[in-house]
Amino acid sequence: MLQELNRRLSGVLRFNEPMSRHTSFRIGGPADALFVPRDLGELKKCLKETHELGIPVTVIGNGSNLLVCDGGIRGLVIKLSGTLDWIHISGNRVRAGCGVLLSTLAYKAVEAGLGGLEFAAGIPGTLGGGVIMNAGAYGGEMKDVVTSVRALRPTGEECDFSAAEMSFGYRRSSMQNSGLYALEVAMELQPTNKEESLAVIRDLNDRRKAKQPLALPSAGSVFKRPEGYYAGPLIEKAGLKGLRIGDAEVSTVHANFIVNVGNATAADVLALIAHVRDTVYRESGVMLEQEVKVIGEQCEEEYHV
Ligand SMILES: Cc1cc2nc3c(=O)[nH]c(=O)nc-3n(C[C@H](O)[C@H](O)[C@H](O)COP(=O)(O)OP(=O)(O)OC[C@H]3O[C@@H](n4cnc5c(N)ncnc54)[C@H](O)[C@@H]3O)c2cc1C
Repeated sequence: MLQELNRRLSGVLRFNEPMSRHTSFRIGGPADALFVPRDLGELKKCLKETHELGIPVTVIGNGSNLLVCDGGIRGLVIKLSGTLDWIHISGNRVRAGCGVLLSTLAYKAVEAGLGGLEFAAGIPGTLGGGVIMNAGAYGGEMKDVVTSVRALRPTGEECDFSAAEMSFGYRRSSMQNSGLYALEVAMELQPTNKEESLAVIRDLNDRRKAKQPLALPSAGSVFKRPEGYYAGPLIEKAGLKGLRIGDAEVSTVHANFIVNVGNATAADVLALIAHVRDTVYRESGVMLEQEVKVIGEQCEEEYHV
């Protein structure tokens, strides 16, 4: 079926593509095939054909919140980072394609004299991934700026969702696991003083550099913030900082990050996640919930979120 899809798409698929090349963790077995559409037309055509051929599709942005299992991903992976990355600014309103990086978008907005996305300048994902996850940091989140989202159904038809319909919550939105593909996002920002906004971005990035293990591959915070606590201190208090399984390590810099110190496998990371969750529950009675999305094959069902 994938060969037929490749024929219909004029030979643009990459077969057996290691997902470790497309995730910030640098972990992940092969996707049967990977496709980076050059434009909306190609994306729509691809979805129409995959639907017709019954090929399962997984869409990813920049792979910065993903743990792809060692068995890889069956079917087609569509990667949107590096494509669909246009930005239109008119007054306080910004529309952008879901493939644009949040950092690029935040800086472009500030250059145009618009603030509100400074919090996102250090988040290494795309606008699409940011909206799906309702990404946030330092008191800001995507929900504060998004007014609507245009998406594609698996059949390739477009549909629009208001911010209310997105039901944004802490690191969640109604579009997670919905089978819809986020395509473009409309946002409303506020006039800002360019120099002041740039100073805010510099300050937030310095804080990240000081507190996060940015020199090693990771997928950011592994666990969501439990109500009334912070995951990092709970993990540290349980004595888990620096613990390793294989080449996966609970970061010595920030305990809510798991870092890949060499050739970690997804199985290493999943075993470490399970150990951290169990130990923290035993020590403090708090059940940690995963923020990182686990996808692909060869994982225990219970680890999937
Ligand atoms: C060093 C580091 C720091 C981080 N700091 C933060 C932080 O401060 N705050 C924060 O919230 N996150 C943070 N993250 C996590 C991550 O960057 C965010 O969750 C980001 O929004 C994910 O975007 P992405 O494009 O990489 O999505 P991916 O990881 O590629 O995908 C995430 C999920 O969204 C889905 N998805 C992606 N794009 C689309 C689309 N267009 N349509 C439908 N579904 C889609 C995927 O299928 C997957 O389920 C950090 C990660 C790292 C590595």
